Amino acid sequence: MKEIIGELIPPTRVMMTPGPSCMDPRVYRAMSAPLVGHLDPWFLEMMNDVQVLLRRVFQTENRITYPVSASGSGGIEAAVLNPLEEGDECIVCANGMFSERMAVIAERSPAKVIRVEAPLGRTVDPEDIRRAGKGKKIKFVGLAHGETSTGVVQRLENYRKVADELGALLIVDTVASLAGIPLNVDRERIDICFSGTQKAISAPPGMAPITINSRVEDVIRARKKKVESWYFDITPIMTMWGTERNYHHTPPVSLIYGLREALRIVLEEGLEARWERHQRNQQALVAGIEAMGLELFVSDPADRLVTVTAVKIPAELEDRKVRQQLLDEFNIEIAGGIGKTKGQIWRIGLMGYSSQNTNVLLFLAALEKVLLDQGRRLPAGAGVATAIRSYQASGQQVAVGARK
Ligand SMILES: *Cc1c(COP(=O)(O)O)cnc(C)c1O
Repeated sequence: MKEIIGELIPPTRVMMTPGPSCMDPRVYRAMSAPLVGHLDPWFLEMMNDVQVLLRRVFQTENRITYPVSASGSGGIEAAVLNPLEEGDECIVCANGMFSERMAVIAERSPAKVIRVEAPLGRTVDPEDIRRAGKGKKIKFVGLAHGETSTGVVQRLENYRKVADELGALLIVDTVASLAGIPLNVDRERIDICFSGTQKAISAPPGMAPITINSRVEDVIRARKKKVESWYFDITPIMTMWGTERNYHHTPPVSLIYGLREALRIVLEEGLEARWERHQRNQQALVAGIEAMGLELFVSDPADRLVTVTAVKIPAELEDRKVRQQLLDEFNIEIAGGIGKTKGQIWRIGLMGYSSQNTNVLLFLAALEKVLLDQGRRLPAGAGVATAIRSYQASGQQVAVGARK
């Protein structure tokens, strides 16, 4: 006879990975609200609220702004498959696993994909894009704002400029950056921008907010053939999120409740205050890490992504053992490398609700204990002390939790 499987009781973790991040208790409460039908007039009104909130967070007036019912990778699919057609060429800036994924997905379309690469831990040189696109008709230039696999941020204005020169659309993956670092879709003239809910927004995983401007609407309207994906075809989905309210698929009602509350929290805090909090906490983390004699993977401080900090693993330490001990003894989860950085780096996420000074100080103290246990010599208390000084220098009291 099969044993009875027990009640679900997950551990309570401090999630300091590049997603999912911890969630505010208000988001859990919102998700436990009663289900309604997705065609219920009340739900249709609620969908409008979510679109309004998303426009404010993306900072856009775009009509087409809604959460794709899929994880961040579904956002990539929707973003690249909708504009691409047979005979098109596009450029994808590949400087890590997630931007590489954009190229891999675009290759499922009938279009030709030109990769412009950069070494891991570096940004793509706009000059290389210029050279790759010269004399060609390029449909879009696509890139990751924050490349989560290496902890690299790319400044968008340079890429917008090259895309303009090539007469191309600009597609930006902001899965790891929206609501964590400065981003303004309309001002930065991003044609298609998408994100994920489980990172700096701190909603549950499973949705990919997307926004597209009227220029892209025109491109999609002029398509000769249907989009090579039924589920991610934006046109029929917009009749669900738009005024017609046609059924396309059943959206994840409870996740949308959670997203609505998470977006409300983002806007209550204020985007600028939220960006500053992320910055302050990463500054303290980086100061602490360096004081412990560890080295960052991204050598140029200007290229470091505020939401994900990549740290080189010293040769004498075992990646898995360190992460396992952090989890077992402190309930702290950090990530290792992925793809080509596997075994080389740790990735520490400070995203959304997880970006708290209490988490930074706890993590630095925990890491010191773990490293000492595993035989590394380091100056006693240096990580925590340096982080505290960093907070003091930024004018913030230490014993303050999230969203203050
Ligand atoms: C996490 C992430 C993705 C993928 O999101 P999933 O929700 O795991 O599908 C894509 N791009 C970037 C930049 C990410 O950080």
